Amino acid sequence: MPADNQTPFRDNGSSHDAPAQSARQQWNWHPDLPIGNNPLFEWPWHMPTIWAYHRDTWLKLSEVSFVLILAIATFYLMQPVMPVDGDSGSMTWVGVLYGVNLGLVCAVAGGLHWFLYIHKGQGIERKYISAFGHKGGGRFSFGNQVHDNIFWTLVSGVGFWTFYQAIMLWRLNSGAASAIEWGDSPVLFSLIIFLTGPWIAFHFYWGHRFLHMGVVYKWVHALHHRNVNVGPWSGISMHPVEHAIYFSSVFIHLFIPSHPIHICFHMYMLGLSAIIGHSGFHSLFIGNKDRFALGHFHHQLHHRYFECNYGSVDFPLDRWFGTFHDGSQESFSRLKNNLKI
Ligand SMILES: [Zn+2]
Ligand SMILES: [Zn+2]
Repeated sequence: MPADNQTPFRDNGSSHDAPAQSARQQWNWHPDLPIGNNPLFEWPWHMPTIWAYHRDTWLKLSEVSFVLILAIATFYLMQPVMPVDGDSGSMTWVGVLYGVNLGLVCAVAGGLHWFLYIHKGQGIERKYISAFGHKGGGRFSFGNQVHDNIFWTLVSGVGFWTFYQAIMLWRLNSGAASAIEWGDSPVLFSLIIFLTGPWIAFHFYWGHRFLHMGVVYKWVHALHHRNVNVGPWSGISMHPVEHAIYFSSVFIHLFIPSHPIHICFHMYMLGLSAIIGHSGFHSLFIGNKDRFALGHFHHQLHHRYFECNYGSVDFPLDRWFGTFHDGSQESFSRLKNNLKI
């Protein structure tokens, strides 16, 4: 069924009647329900939960710590090719940056797709939906989900991503007044990294609500929602207008003290995190153990039910504005009732 005629809150990922089903019946696998949000925004504060959440995010190998390491590596990798003292005569560095981004996307999306969907290295263990992708490709460019997703990711996605990143890096390299070094204030430097996720969630929520408005949905965002059963290549498979909006959260760095590592981290949190989060599997499961958290079940619910979970767990705007679907039957009934359908 083409996704460009949006019916709010439909169960598009199942051939069954979702309200009559338990979560166990709706999903091949799902995390413990109800899902929560960043415990930093849950009141009253429960310190052991807050500590565990941030320990697992920052002090262990996670999607966030992984992209932070990549951001630091990219900063040092780019140093030799960056123009000196704002000299903009050579644009070679932009080509290198584009190559780095292209390589990262191909390695992360391509690697996950190969392992999970071609090699089927863990079967359907920790997979939200047991089917591997969509049958038939009528709704997709080139008549094929993977080809469609790769095209929009590489042609438009990596282009906008690199364009925005290059503008911000060039500005800092040209001696922007708001540039900051680690030595200036390690606390502020770290705080900016720490708050990047919640800011992206805040920006994503409002941009995403806009994208779900009538004609904007039909002409722009429906392209991303062709994917109900998502895979790694679906993460930033978007219309160019959506890319322009989605990646624009990085412009917050025009107004706050920033370093190139902040810019690279921000872009990887937008690009690579979306790819990992759309992988369709909750984690890499090797040797009977969860090795690395992958899918964002919060967003998987959005791809199935549409009119819910516009943001992410990093900042609880969905809870505050009544659009939070925590995966439970109660949540489903409440949202369905609010939408009066
Ligand atoms: Zn999505
Ligand atoms: Zn959406």
